[in-house]
Amino acid sequence: MNAPLIDPFQRAISYLRVSVTDRCDFRCLYCMSENMTFLPKKELLTLEELDRMCSTFIRLGVRKLRITGGEPLVRRDIMTFFRAMSRHLESGDLDELTLTTNGSQLSRFAADLAAAGVRRINVSLDTLDEAKFARVTRWGRLAQVMNGIDAAQAAGLRVKINAVALKGFNEDELFTLAEWCAARDCDMTWIEVMPMGDLGNEDRLDQYWSLDDLRARLAERYTLIDLAERTGGPARYVQLEQTGQKIGFITPLTHNFCESCNRVRLTCTGELYMCLGQEDMADLRAPLRVSEDDTALEEAIRNAIAHKPKGHDFDYSRQRADGQMTRHMSHTGG
Ligand code: SAM
Ligand code: SF4
Repeated sequence: MNAPLIDPFQRAISYLRVSVTDRCDFRCLYCMSENMTFLPKKELLTLEELDRMCSTFIRLGVRKLRITGGEPLVRRDIMTFFRAMSRHLESGDLDELTLTTNGSQLSRFAADLAAAGVRRINVSLDTLDEAKFARVTRWGRLAQVMNGIDAAQAAGLRVKINAVALKGFNEDELFTLAEWCAARDCDMTWIEVMPMGDLGNEDRLDQYWSLDDLRARLAERYTLIDLAERTGGPARYVQLEQTGQKIGFITPLTHNFCESCNRVRLTCTGELYMCLGQEDMADLRAPLRVSEDDTALEEAIRNAIAHKPKGHDFDYSRQRADGQMTRHMSHTGG
């Protein structure tokens, strides 16, 4: 009954990313439009339903849970959910409970997250310049995020910085960001901007800075040692020989690593996306709500995994944003 989740390409699904809200206190240019329409609250899974969903996936073999959004820490009472999930860490059924955050609420929640068993978090930070930060996030304040990172480190959380590579925006911060992360003992990952959501006047090709180019520029100053480390995700890592620092690259566009993909994504309304870059999804909210018993839900999950596609179709190579997704990253959870 509890056979692990294996997809048609023999990939074991051990990693679930869960978006707990589509709302956010920032409006990053590449992620949201200024006037976003958010889902009515009744559409969202309740915290109890999120618990049932995640616990079912864990029963079916998921070992790593990443909480994301929107901004996960703006969801009301989200610490109740983190505390509830910690029971799976204690039982040994879950290896890791983690989150991706913009950092704005970390001053309030870092200690509670650590107490719930969270050990590592990803904080998104594209620039160290206050004015540029305000521009790219529209509503964010850099100082608040810096305080949040301080609080996270003080609580003993390991922080990884995620930066979206944006042409003409943070190209000039390649080394300052790397050096700042090294000084703060943070790992760092660069992400290629993906064609998500219809954001109106932002021209995606204008924003796109290839990580092949970024990497080549990094290599002008440092010797890059390729690391074999894999997380089943699209990230590849190098170590800078001179500093020992680790830098990751998430390159959904210039390279495609779908063959080793071990993950699926659950939206805050209970839709399961088998691939970030494909429209295929399964509604898990209906089978969840149909009964208190999890049999229908388990069957729906197995059925969905049996349809996980081989890979995505993002492609900028023809100077068009091919494979463009109509939904926003904040919906599926980045
Ligand atoms: N609000 C949290 C945050 O910003 O970390 C979690 C959700 S956010 C959607 C997750 C990640 O997706 C962030 O690192 C963000 O920079 C990234 N992201 C959003 N839109 C993107 C896009 N169009 N292309 C690439 N990365 C994107
Ligand atoms: Fe909010 Fe994160 Fe999207 Fe920025 S990237 S708008 S912080 S969800």
